[in-house]
Amino acid sequence: MDRIFEDTETAFALKSDSELERAYFLFKMIANEPLVKMGTLMTNFAIKAHLPVEGLIRATVFDHFCGGVSEDDCLPVVDKMWSKGVHSVLDYSVEGKDTEDPLDNALHTILKIIDFVKEKEAIPFAVFKPSAYGRFSLFKKVNAKGKLTEDEALEWKRVISRLDKTCKKAYDLDVRLLIDAEESWIQDAADDLIESMMMKYNKKRAIVFNTLQMYRWDRLDYLKALHERAKKENFKIGIKVVRGAYMEKERERAERKGYKSPICSDKRATDANFDAAIEYSVNNLADISIFAGTHNEESCYRLIELMEEKGIDKRDDHIGFGQLFGMSDHISFNLSHAGFNVAKYLPFGPVRDVMPYLIRRAEENTSVAGQTTRELSLLKKERKRRKM
Ligand SMILES: Cc1cc2nc3c(=O)[nH]c(=O)nc-3n(C[C@H](O)[C@H](O)[C@H](O)COP(=O)(O)OP(=O)(O)OC[C@H]3O[C@@H](n4cnc5c(N)ncnc54)[C@H](O)[C@@H]3O)c2cc1C
Repeated sequence: MDRIFEDTETAFALKSDSELERAYFLFKMIANEPLVKMGTLMTNFAIKAHLPVEGLIRATVFDHFCGGVSEDDCLPVVDKMWSKGVHSVLDYSVEGKDTEDPLDNALHTILKIIDFVKEKEAIPFAVFKPSAYGRFSLFKKVNAKGKLTEDEALEWKRVISRLDKTCKKAYDLDVRLLIDAEESWIQDAADDLIESMMMKYNKKRAIVFNTLQMYRWDRLDYLKALHERAKKENFKIGIKVVRGAYMEKERERAERKGYKSPICSDKRATDANFDAAIEYSVNNLADISIFAGTHNEESCYRLIELMEEKGIDKRDDHIGFGQLFGMSDHISFNLSHAGFNVAKYLPFGPVRDVMPYLIRRAEENTSVAGQTTRELSLLKKERKRRKM
């Protein structure tokens, strides 16, 4: 198979020389673990103390990993990526809110994004996190099958109502919805809600997509069982397949509380599990639509290979690839250049509010050492190519 991801000219065609330099500088910094730790502490402190650091954050990490502070602010980036055939998924990245107002604001924002998506070919999905619609601790209690107080039961009804309003609007406008996966101690509650929405709104095609984190060893069985239920109840499945973002937290909690870790024993097992979920879905494409959210080149090549083996059209809308904005442009832009459906998650929100997201990106890139090294070597290769 052609190693299409090596083409740095296509990968970075949208980056000016100075943007290329900024990306190189940024990944160099991110590769330095003590620096990231210190930077995180200092930034958290500066934000809490209301020091004027937003300009600095915006000019560096924010602009690299985010599209803007609002939907409209993201449009130039959306249009620019679309000029190369890469879709955007507007990701409202405000996290960790625990009162009703922000939960209703999140609903309002997502509903607005669905209207946006309807109008823009460049944006094929809307996306949100289950915990954007309900208190994390309420999800946790429902997940643990705890008895809810009367107030909590009403609150949970409001969570369901927000979700239902969103899915209904998506269904009415024929806009597809990706719902992110979070920590395992709230995920069963989210899965049950999302499955009930699939049952209601995925009768003809996959509108509602849940996310499967394949670092969990139980997810392939879950997918197969979901498939059986979908066949029986006559609905389609939409899934975003990812490896999973909370591994350390999951392992640490399982150890602390003395239960079996939900995470695969090692990276190789996660990789095999990820590829198995993709293969199972591709083998059942009439019932299952997938969005492969990954920066792993081999997983992308494997999916391309499967599509070729089965003669599946590159533009078949049951299959899409996804990466995060600011990462793995060599995958996204080369996939679109080769004719596949590909989208980048484009986070947005006020600078202060997206800080937890940015910190996770910095920490993830620091801990996934291989990935940062890869970004750096590709940026280096492109700098060299441009100087020739
Ligand atoms: C478009 C998109 C959407 C996403 N949505 C979500 C989401 O909704 N929820 C979510 O949790 N994450 C989400 N992620 C993040 C994703 O789960 C991964 O953390 C990230 O993409 C890195 O994995 P990778 O497949 O790109 O590749 P790789 O770099 O090959 O894999 C790294 C991943 O492998 C796993 N891993 C690493 N070491 C081990 C080990 N020792 N044992 C077992 N497993 C290991 C971990 O999951 C780690 O993140 C999303 C990513 C993308 C690109």
